Amino acid sequence: METSKPARQKDTRDLRHEGIASKVEGFNERAKKAVADEELHKSIALFTNKTLTGRNATLGALPEAPELRERAYHIKQETMANLDSYLSQMAEAVEARGGNVFFADDGEDVVRYIGELARRRGAKVIAKSKSMATEEIELNRRLEESYSDLDLEIVETDLGEWIAQLAGDHPSHIVGPILHMNRERVAKILSETAGEELPPNVEDLAAFARKRLREKFLAADIGITGANFGVAETGTVVTVTNEGNGRLVTSVPPVHVVVMGIEKLVPRFEDLSVFVRLLSRSGTGQKITVYTNFVTGPRGEGELDGAEEMHLILMDNGRSKLLGTEFEEALYCIRCGSCLNVCPVYRQTGGHAYGSTYSGPIGAVITPLLKGDKEAKDLPHASSLCGACSETCPVGIPLHELLLKLRNRQVEEGIVGRAQSLMFKGFEKTMRSPAAYRAGVKIGRLAQKPAVKDGSIRPMPGPTSGWTDTRDLPPLAEKSFREMWKEGI
Ligand code: SF4
Repeated sequence: METSKPARQKDTRDLRHEGIASKVEGFNERAKKAVADEELHKSIALFTNKTLTGRNATLGALPEAPELRERAYHIKQETMANLDSYLSQMAEAVEARGGNVFFADDGEDVVRYIGELARRRGAKVIAKSKSMATEEIELNRRLEESYSDLDLEIVETDLGEWIAQLAGDHPSHIVGPILHMNRERVAKILSETAGEELPPNVEDLAAFARKRLREKFLAADIGITGANFGVAETGTVVTVTNEGNGRLVTSVPPVHVVVMGIEKLVPRFEDLSVFVRLLSRSGTGQKITVYTNFVTGPRGEGELDGAEEMHLILMDNGRSKLLGTEFEEALYCIRCGSCLNVCPVYRQTGGHAYGSTYSGPIGAVITPLLKGDKEAKDLPHASSLCGACSETCPVGIPLHELLLKLRNRQVEEGIVGRAQSLMFKGFEKTMRSPAAYRAGVKIGRLAQKPAVKDGSIRPMPGPTSGWTDTRDLPPLAEKSFREMWKEGI
């Protein structure tokens, strides 16, 4: 830890307009840097290994886990097939309990709704709990920019998200937003905020954060949360978390706003018994997280807790266009983060390399679908296709198959380079025709000769260097099995 005393106190207001906009293009360049970062690998391994060990133990101890997984898949399938009616049911149930419902087509709609609400309420401070949906639309930055006249202070109150916000950084993992930071770095960030040097131990840092954030909860005019699930039949919004900030955000400020992706719906309350059990085990390796919050409308008459006013924003932002397509399964995701933890690419690059709110295998699938194939063209290739992601997914999303479909779509849309496209088409033709295959092998044997050294193909120039720089590619054998068979060898 650095020993110089920070000059002054810093808070979230100082971070306005520091630009944490996501930039999806350039995965390969960012990944190269990340792969060389030893500290990053240590931090990633610390978090992912611990989480995976917990996941394997808790799911392994649940004999009905495979059955729950299947049920989860079918519930999501049914939900998506009838999403319109479940959304109406959810909206009616929330309104019946005195809440307000707004259907937002995109991030712009969400920003406008919350901005106008803040104006009407004369809000100055907004306290937020962890929400990937609001990260996805960069709510904080856009609210501050579009409603600069309101002079809003928007404070993340999840500990990791707050630290990321103070650092002008953004989350690198769905569940562990600052897993890329070590304790010393956290101590440095919080010391700058405190205006005094804080020791790098968890108790002291947490005590400082608790004190500072409590002031924000008490000052907040509006609380914003995301939702892990929304129950259509009751209008209940469920958040699954390990920090108490979620409860404070939903009940201390007079106004509670929920920003929920439309795919987070489940039809029935009993469906939660499937998803909550899978989510906590897969996400953090716990049987159940410390807090599972259920909010159904604003505070009712005679009730002690809850906001005076509650607003549910049901956000589409590109999701509905996936319904009924070959990519619909991407909407089944419950954001447990398990596919990130097992992914050999994510484990080397971390989340920032993806340049998107969503990283790892689900990020590589959902980002091109939401942002466009062109902008996110590298992401479907950020996979070894080992299938570990599909295997670990508690909802049974065939992630590696979706990645293959996205690659295929790139070829069809002419997004991959012409040379690459021609190469794969040629490869396909060769593999389909025995005569072309035999001729190809003969040509290959001759062509490889200058590149073979010590029994393997050495680094080659041009487009093949990406492979041969880091891998020993075995050369084609002098004789194929068929040739040897024919010759009786
Ligand atoms: S795709 Fe599956 S494993 Fe990955 S975050 Fe979503 S639910 Fe979890």
